[in-house]
Amino acid sequence: MRTTDAFVALRCVDCDARHDPGEVTHRCPDCGGITDPEYDLDAVDLTRAELASRPFDSLWRYEELLPFPREAAVSLGEGATPLVECPTLSDRMGVGTVHIKDEGRNPTGTFKDRGQTGAVTAAVEHGADAVALNSAGNAGQAAAAYAARAGLDSRVFLPDRAGFTQKAMTEVHGGDLRVAEGEITDAGDEYAAATASGADDDAADPYSTKTFVTPYRHDVKKTMAYETVEQLDWTAPDAIVYPTGGGVGLVGMHKAATELRELGFTDALPGMYAAQAEGCAPVARAWEAGAEAHEPWTDITTACNGIAVPDPGASPWILEAIAESGGGAVATDDRAILDAAVEVARTEGVEVGATCASAVSGAFELAERGELGADDTVVLLNTGAGNKDVDTLRSHLGATEAAE
Ligand SMILES: *Cc1c(COP(=O)(O)O)cnc(C)c1O
Ligand SMILES: [Zn+2]
Repeated sequence: MRTTDAFVALRCVDCDARHDPGEVTHRCPDCGGITDPEYDLDAVDLTRAELASRPFDSLWRYEELLPFPREAAVSLGEGATPLVECPTLSDRMGVGTVHIKDEGRNPTGTFKDRGQTGAVTAAVEHGADAVALNSAGNAGQAAAAYAARAGLDSRVFLPDRAGFTQKAMTEVHGGDLRVAEGEITDAGDEYAAATASGADDDAADPYSTKTFVTPYRHDVKKTMAYETVEQLDWTAPDAIVYPTGGGVGLVGMHKAATELRELGFTDALPGMYAAQAEGCAPVARAWEAGAEAHEPWTDITTACNGIAVPDPGASPWILEAIAESGGGAVATDDRAILDAAVEVARTEGVEVGATCASAVSGAFELAERGELGADDTVVLLNTGAGNKDVDTLRSHLGATEAAE
């Protein structure tokens, strides 16, 4: 397996055991906990000047801080997305500056490409011939694309509420699509049944690229924070507002921020803010209650599919990252979220997805509460392209016009 010099072990976040990444591929064999790639930052020979001399062409330009070298990467040129300044939004929110990190410009239109380039590269390095996952939609499409790129089979379990684009493109990429009635958790149950030993031979024992089952999704998604900080001339923004489902990106970006601080590239940590929809807000509710973990959400009533995650297993880690970074959590209703998507499209020209607009309406709410200040630099993550959610956005427009 080709790994970078600084990547020394997979550390279990529950029992703290260290494992050899050549042998342990996913969760901790001792306790079943989530594993996290651990780096010896003293072994990283990288400067801000060196990075400035490299083309801004893909997240693999940070290879010294990633598990695998660029030459091993199963890549479609993901990452290196623009940070778009949004003066109208900063005026309206009454904060210093607002930028949108536009992850819609990724190969399959969402930041899930960052996770799948990492996880599928790991699958290839571990000698797998098929990958599998359940997903709300975008990760499934991304997995099918990266598996195709690597010449692997993919098995993708989506809930029926997943969008047409995500289902269709999974199949266009050659993925074996299974649609489950219900939610992402139901798709997870089908995944478990289909891949259990003794089940249909064809589907048994694929290499999982599921959220927090593979350690390489959150770790490679951390590059969103490397890029953001570099694009802000190596200053950490005051706040990063992130549409939070399973929390992979939030945990990853917080990890990146602590690494940059340890490397001496920055001296502050950005406050990490989890934005959710009121119709499925287990993390925001736990944060408000001061709890250490979430309670599973039972009745999902949001059209924001990407964050309709009722039982985010990593919630203790998400809540810890929020607390450690001095951030927070917020939930807004679907109407406010979809209004925000339309407003950004009309005032800034940026196409934000329905799910992603939860970060915009969440930031409005945080500014109103005084959690974002008049001098703050605020970064909103547009995790996916607006055109993945055309139906939701256009029908909201129709509903709004009818009401006027
Ligand atoms: C998956 C997804 C999210 C949530 O990501 P997590 O890291 O699992 O919290 C947010 N937005 C979009 C568009 C997504 O596809
Ligand atoms: Zn463990």
